[in-house]
Amino acid sequence: MKDKTYRLHSLTEGNWFKLICGASYQHLPAVRSLALIYTLAGVDCIDVAADYAVITAVQEGIQAAQNCPDLDRELKGKNKPLLMISINDGEDPHFRKAEFDVTQCPAECSRPCETICGANAIAFSDVATEFSGVIDRLCYGCGRCLPICPEQLITTRSYVSTPQAVVSLVDEMGIDAIEIHTQVGHFADFKRLWSEISSGIDKLQILAISCSYHQDAIPYLQALVELIQPLPCPLIWQTDGRPMSGDIGMGTTHLAVKFAQKAIQAGLPGYIQLAGGTNDYTVTKLQAEKMLKYQAKSFEVTNRWVSGVAYGSYARSLISPILEKLEMINYSDNHSAKQLENHPDLLEESVAIAHNLVSQIKYSPLLKN
Ligand code: SF4
Ligand code: SF4
Repeated sequence: MKDKTYRLHSLTEGNWFKLICGASYQHLPAVRSLALIYTLAGVDCIDVAADYAVITAVQEGIQAAQNCPDLDRELKGKNKPLLMISINDGEDPHFRKAEFDVTQCPAECSRPCETICGANAIAFSDVATEFSGVIDRLCYGCGRCLPICPEQLITTRSYVSTPQAVVSLVDEMGIDAIEIHTQVGHFADFKRLWSEISSGIDKLQILAISCSYHQDAIPYLQALVELIQPLPCPLIWQTDGRPMSGDIGMGTTHLAVKFAQKAIQAGLPGYIQLAGGTNDYTVTKLQAEKMLKYQAKSFEVTNRWVSGVAYGSYARSLISPILEKLEMINYSDNHSAKQLENHPDLLEESVAIAHNLVSQIKYSPLLKN
């Protein structure tokens, strides 16, 4: 079983792994490298910003993985992941950028904003002609810098996907899946977006709907079911527990698990996949809660297991030290020398790290691939 069919099979087998590059993340070299690394590690899907340049970078990374001669992995013949783009129906933290006017910063400020940003998106230079502030393409909107500024100088700039742009990306870029980010209270916005893109859904392999946790999330998602059915493709519910927090600490995973449990209990039609706070502890927690497929008792009629897990900030943070090493190598203008596949030692190291995470859900000896 190969490629796309194989990937859908992962959902039914409960071992789906999605890499989230970030709905706002636009650091193209890093996106390309992440796609390369996690493709070789065997992921099912890569979820990226709905942006031509970012999609192109991911496609290059996937292609580089396919061309890798030295990494003759078991999954080599079937390792092309599905390409998903994330879009939003209204204001959403995944779709924003931080910003501040550095000229307003007091000289004595110790710059806690710079320290807390895990994406290295805040930089200061003592040279007046060099850039200081938020580096737009690196910011993925996590919001951690906002409350830490003693002067409350940091604000965010949000944006909303335009349906026309989404439709043309699907038509022109070979997109396999769309994920719509929504929130409780957005029904009218979701309906508006849906009315504009639903006619093109039959071109997709998968539709995903991501919702942040809220006490009224389940009734909201049930209302969406009424709106979108019937669907011509499989549906994934992304239970986004605590968005963009997986790299903060292992406890962030609890809310994603709790939300997934509620979605399973509600019997939402489709596959349930966790996100938002997922990390190294997530599979352990799912095992403890008996939410993995191999733990389901054969006589159980109702599926109580999750179909998979998506990893974002945690998966990226595991790899970032290696990508920093790659960036520090000075190769002047030699473009190809800056590509990760041309550094077998760094590539092997990074794929081993990624595979360690992927294998937690994908290659358990108790699971069939
Ligand atoms: S902390 Fe988060 S929101 Fe702030 S600049 Fe960094 S990535 Fe952007
Ligand atoms: S914490 Fe606030 S005041 Fe201090 S450097 Fe950052 S943005 Fe400027």
